[in-house]
Amino acid sequence: MSDTMREKLFYAPKNAYTRIDEQTRRAIHNFAEGYKAFLDKSKTERDAVMSVTELAEAHGFVPYGREMKLSAGDRVYTINRNKSILLAVIGKQPMTNGVNILAAHIDAPRLDLKPMPLCEDKKELVYLKTHYYGGIKKYQWTAIPLELRGVVALAGGGVVNVSIGADAGDPVFTITDLLPHLAKQQMSKTLDEGVTGENLRVLIGSIPDTQEEGSDAAKFAILKLLYEKYGITEQDFLSAELSIVPNFPTRDVGLDRSLIGGYGHDDRCCAYPAVQALFDLPTPQKTAVCILADKEEIGSVGATGMQSEYFDNFLASLCGGSDALRECYEHSACLSADVTNAYDPLYGDVCEAQNSSYANYGVCLMKYTGSHGKSGSNDAEAEFIGCLRGIFDEAKVIWQMAELGRVDAGGGGTVAGYMARRNISTIDIGVPVLSMHAPFEVISKLDLYMAQRAMRAFCAMDE
Ligand code: MN
Ligand code: MN
Repeated sequence: MSDTMREKLFYAPKNAYTRIDEQTRRAIHNFAEGYKAFLDKSKTERDAVMSVTELAEAHGFVPYGREMKLSAGDRVYTINRNKSILLAVIGKQPMTNGVNILAAHIDAPRLDLKPMPLCEDKKELVYLKTHYYGGIKKYQWTAIPLELRGVVALAGGGVVNVSIGADAGDPVFTITDLLPHLAKQQMSKTLDEGVTGENLRVLIGSIPDTQEEGSDAAKFAILKLLYEKYGITEQDFLSAELSIVPNFPTRDVGLDRSLIGGYGHDDRCCAYPAVQALFDLPTPQKTAVCILADKEEIGSVGATGMQSEYFDNFLASLCGGSDALRECYEHSACLSADVTNAYDPLYGDVCEAQNSSYANYGVCLMKYTGSHGKSGSNDAEAEFIGCLRGIFDEAKVIWQMAELGRVDAGGGGTVAGYMARRNISTIDIGVPVLSMHAPFEVISKLDLYMAQRAMRAFCAMDE
């Protein structure tokens, strides 16, 4: 067989750097710079909503109101409870022809403060008690710098924004770990049991108050500091959403600077390209919608998660009624934009190499996720994938197809199933991640850029 016949018949994914030009390399680099700045500002879903709002307004998006008469080319956004944001670019065709939807999430695994978090232990060490959010390996959260972010809602109204650790002059916090000298028993435990959930207690102070008599003198001193800075009392923690997140800045990884290390790539590395795809979209045939949802890491629950009807209400409002909404959904398509696992040679045995995603091989489509025989997955229909292949190839998107891991090695899910349940053709697509859900995750700049190219081409789709 000739070489061209071999090329025609075989499918052999390649490292994308072997087939891009200098101009694309520059575009990849530039796109990553914007993303790094975004990621540093977006450590919680609330932060991400604020960063996206700022970017969206700079690109001509205005807050949506039900009274608006929208026409092709209009750009609107709406915010759900400060934790989720939806954006739309109105298309030339009626909503009942269907819309193209990008769905990503902006929450990430972290440590949330308990409702009554403050405690003083022997001898005058003061802590914040936490309850972890999402799937974490608990041992990864000890002995690293941490910061505190979130809001305190006051009784009777008013919200105090809290951020300690992000500014250069701020103190940071940490969770201590046991010295190896005395860790004989701990080291014989499993990784899951070596650090317990209750031991994820954040050290925040150690000087007892010397002015007044009484117990918990060091906790009292910390409460005084919090009161001075934020005007809050211990009771105010009852109505707060405060999270402990890693304090690492986003950095280039590798001598060739091909990778980006940072906290919360999952799933801001899909959320950012999704909104960027809308920002530079010329007036499309079909309306393009992007939802950045909250609560994916704990099952897409709650009023701000992908299962919430907030999404349907917004779309119904754009459609002008619930019958039109059903017709709209039937003709709509969705990219569930969420990260996948990049093949890691250090742990290659959990993957099946031929069907794994690889860093620098392009944005990754996942026909299905789930576990134990695809259970809990969306399993996109072949026709939809065929259609996307054509669109991506035409737009010169470099992409790969993969599954999450070796059969029965484990599994996971995304928002895809909740979109598909609405009778919307849906497939997972995302950036491969190394060390997913760790405090410092790693992605490839090339894959990030290709995610934006893919989502941009999808939004312009009119079939
Ligand atoms: Mn995710
Ligand atoms: Mn995740």
